[in-house]
Amino acid sequence: MLNKKSVDDINVKGKRVLVRCDFNVPIIDGKITDENRLVAALPTIKKLIADGGKVVLCSHLGKPKGEPKPELSLAPVAVRLAELLGQEVKFAADANVVGENAKAAVAAMNDGDVVLLENTRYRAEETKNGEEFSKELASLCDVFVNDAFGTAHRAHCSNVGVTQYVDTAVVGYLMQKEIDFLGNAVNNPERPFVAILGGSKVSSKISVINNLLEKVDTLIIGGGMAYTFMAADGKKVGNSLLEEDYIDYAKDMVKKAEEKGVKLLIPQDNVCADDFSNDANIKIVAKDQDIEDGWEGLDIGPKSCEVFCEALKGAKTVVWNGPMGCFEMPKFAEGTIAVAKALADLDGATTIIGGGDSASAVNNLGFGDKMTHISTGGGASLEFLEGKELPGVAAANDK
Ligand code: AMP
Repeated sequence: MLNKKSVDDINVKGKRVLVRCDFNVPIIDGKITDENRLVAALPTIKKLIADGGKVVLCSHLGKPKGEPKPELSLAPVAVRLAELLGQEVKFAADANVVGENAKAAVAAMNDGDVVLLENTRYRAEETKNGEEFSKELASLCDVFVNDAFGTAHRAHCSNVGVTQYVDTAVVGYLMQKEIDFLGNAVNNPERPFVAILGGSKVSSKISVINNLLEKVDTLIIGGGMAYTFMAADGKKVGNSLLEEDYIDYAKDMVKKAEEKGVKLLIPQDNVCADDFSNDANIKIVAKDQDIEDGWEGLDIGPKSCEVFCEALKGAKTVVWNGPMGCFEMPKFAEGTIAVAKALADLDGATTIIGGGDSASAVNNLGFGDKMTHISTGGGASLEFLEGKELPGVAAANDK
């Protein structure tokens, strides 16, 4: 059980508090085109302002590769944040992030003021967790708050290094929610516990499959990775996504599921296409038939939807990572829609969407508010599901 100190366990009145946020938002021609991440950061920031802290915000934006790039400046974020918060957010324009400008801006703060630092990745040391930049960041604060889950699987100066030089390091509300659901609910689930895995490749989710088989009652596998499992079952998969090097691994996982008494479900049928295109000809191929050369499975078929949705009935905890098919093309989105709908219809279950494509699928399909938790971090949520310790979480003080 992960039990980290959070912003609710401290009062930062009169203190300088550095908050690592995830302000990595899309900006086109100086305009923020999706401000969800800014809105999501507000509760933590507002709590710290209400305490009477001096709130210094920092984040990375894109990949400036260790040098100032004007198009990746956080300046537009300060403007929009000020509007959202209804108070001034002073932008500390500073090519060194923690240079003279930033130091002066922080020194001039009153209780309840907000300052935003420049893109932390303007500094090359940031992604290397370098000592000097970590110390510089720490010199700006008395307390550190990490509320950026998307980078929690990486050890950088602004989420890990800095904590070595401050006495108090806690998590914000966003991080706390990720820990509660992806960490604790998955490790101590209310049963039946069902996991649904999809997406493109087995190879990218090896450790997730392995770890979840230790915990779940049912594991549903769809998407591109299902074809390696079908091949392991001796079927021909035509031009479908197949990772031959992982066929033995798939066989091992089937065996492990049997040994553990886990129900492992792979598609009963597939929507196969003669081209990777929404205009392709399609046909449904049942599991006991081979997929011919020239055809590839791009979605789970109607029978699979039925069986998968049936397996979800009565579940008390569900974790979903990865779409059931190439949902970006409407012709191959039915499987993903069916699973999203089944999750949305579950009564009294904790439903957790593990970031990346399944999160955008659920949101785009309009089921976002029907889920208990939609993770904000693709890579970080996968590593949580692998059972790994995330450096950004580990660095926060225990309760
Ligand atoms: P991942 O990043 O591994 O979760 O994979 C997400 C991608 O998997 C999406 O872009 C889907 O289009 C793709 N995908 C899902 N099912 C299939 C499939 N049957 N064949 C090829 N790609 C797929």
